[in-house]
Amino acid sequence: MTPLRTLPLSIAPIDGETTDGYLRRLAVVNYTTVAEVRHAVLASIGRATWNTFDPRVGAAIARLADIPAASLEPSFEEHGVWVRCGHDGRWRPRQCERCRRFTNPRRACSACAEGLATETVARGGGYCARHRQWATDAHEFAVDDTWGYGKAEAIVSDRLWPRGVSLSTGELQLSAALCRTAIGEDPAVQVRRRSRAAGRPEPRTYVDFLAFAYPEVVAITDLITTRAFVSRLLDPSASVIIKGKQLSAAVAKLLSAPDNDELRELSIRIVGHAHEAVVYAEGLRRTRQAKQVLCPPARALIVAANRRRACLLRHASPRVLRNRARPRSDGTPPPSVTRNEPLVPDVLALR
Ligand SMILES: [Zn+2]
Ligand SMILES: [Zn+2]
Repeated sequence: MTPLRTLPLSIAPIDGETTDGYLRRLAVVNYTTVAEVRHAVLASIGRATWNTFDPRVGAAIARLADIPAASLEPSFEEHGVWVRCGHDGRWRPRQCERCRRFTNPRRACSACAEGLATETVARGGGYCARHRQWATDAHEFAVDDTWGYGKAEAIVSDRLWPRGVSLSTGELQLSAALCRTAIGEDPAVQVRRRSRAAGRPEPRTYVDFLAFAYPEVVAITDLITTRAFVSRLLDPSASVIIKGKQLSAAVAKLLSAPDNDELRELSIRIVGHAHEAVVYAEGLRRTRQAKQVLCPPARALIVAANRRRACLLRHASPRVLRNRARPRSDGTPPPSVTRNEPLVPDVLALR
């Protein structure tokens, strides 16, 4: 092991900054390369291969940068994500001490990071209220509508975060697809004004809408992850068309936009897809071998949401599974498998 000398220039880590992101910035300000810094870190801890998650790596980088030892460990209480892991025997979202999970790293506000590129796992969405800046992997721009974006960011941190929603879990993407379909055709809306002000071409994809229609997208997400609302939508004994029209009317009302055919069609497809996933959940058995023993409803909803890529199911009451006399649809994997399945956006969101 080689004793570690401190680098000449140090920088303060930003909130929730990842070890790799901090390392890149540290290399830049010291006019060296990431490879050289890594080499020094590995030599000091006597390892040959790089593992970002090795606590000795974080501690060695902190020594190298002359910052407090725990600076590169994000606070779990503040930034940890809420998971539905079943570790307490239930499948409600909570910050689980055993899982200690953080969200996927995303691009951080460069003004916070002294003008350099880095990534963060901090609680919240893509808006930095301090610098009035939007920053995600796809877009970074100065925000004009600071009131709307600030309010949306507060909703993400305070209300959506405890529901297990983050920028990568799928609900915001589905809402962006709904928003795009609801107002995408209307040239008067402020979404286009915002994207023009940021010097961008017309917003087209759901990724663009997530950035330029953030206040509207967050309002839709708040609605479609409200338990009472989504549970009413997901009653599979009701007509998909009626429930789909209810969803499109609610989204249109929220955006003060006219309810158009395309929005109705998308809403009906979203509800239809979710109803199929509910039917799949109703037929789930407790284990892969079980022919008759039913999977407990709360767990069945999470398994079906993951397997069928239907994020709405995560937010519904287990009481939506009414018809447990369904034929067997599948067996349920062990909880250890379910809790480690990655959350990916619904296919319908990614159009
Ligand atoms: Zn857990
Ligand atoms: Zn900032």
